[in-house]
Amino acid sequence: MRIGADAKKAGIVTDTAIRTPVYDAGCRRCVRLASFLDEVRVAYPSYRCLPVPPFGDPGARLVIVGLAPGMHGANATGRPFTGDFAGILLYETLYAHGYASSPKSRTIDDPLTLVDCRITNSVKCLPPQNKPTPLEMRTCNDYLVADLAALPAGGAVLALGRVAHDAVLIALGARRGSHPFAHGAKHALDNGAMLFDSYHCSRYNTNTGRLTAAMFRSVFDLIDAHLDRARPQR
Ligand code: SF4
Repeated sequence: MRIGADAKKAGIVTDTAIRTPVYDAGCRRCVRLASFLDEVRVAYPSYRCLPVPPFGDPGARLVIVGLAPGMHGANATGRPFTGDFAGILLYETLYAHGYASSPKSRTIDDPLTLVDCRITNSVKCLPPQNKPTPLEMRTCNDYLVADLAALPAGGAVLALGRVAHDAVLIALGARRGSHPFAHGAKHALDNGAMLFDSYHCSRYNTNTGRLTAAMFRSVFDLIDAHLDRARPQR
């Protein structure tokens, strides 16, 4: 398996690192991230502080890939993009385009469902300063491979930000040089999927105007066209 030798040599992963790459709530492959979660769990006992699993339809034709759980968002609630600012625009847009049953994701127990859509992260554990190392990205990439394995032919992947874009290319075995990140770009990949790029829907990007709601919706318009979906009347 790809990650084993270099990660273990660098002391980042444990002896039990190499396992079947499906979501594992007990994964501690990344020693730095596992230790950080232990510290955060003490500071915030009510937070989940575990790897955050994908959320949504397992057979979805659209898989959305973010960077990593946010400290007070997905890390606290256990659902991607839930509990902090980054999910506001995402779930509003998913609802507007018919991929979500509600414009808000509040808790892991709320009745929200996703339709033909699944959300995951490039790295499943909260990283300090929201910055995973390149080795942690590679170590967790096996889980992203599993997340994308069920994508049907002709499906779509939406990468939220450049880091997620690169992680998707690695997971799908595509060359980075052939597919440069650009907001609104789409990339036909060898496995038949189409990769779409958007700036990340973070508080910083939306507050600074780098990403507006209209810009985000226009990316979903491209995805709808690719998947031959009609936007619902809301
Ligand atoms: S980031 Fe991924 S590989 Fe690393 S400990 Fe968390 S779940 Fe495991």
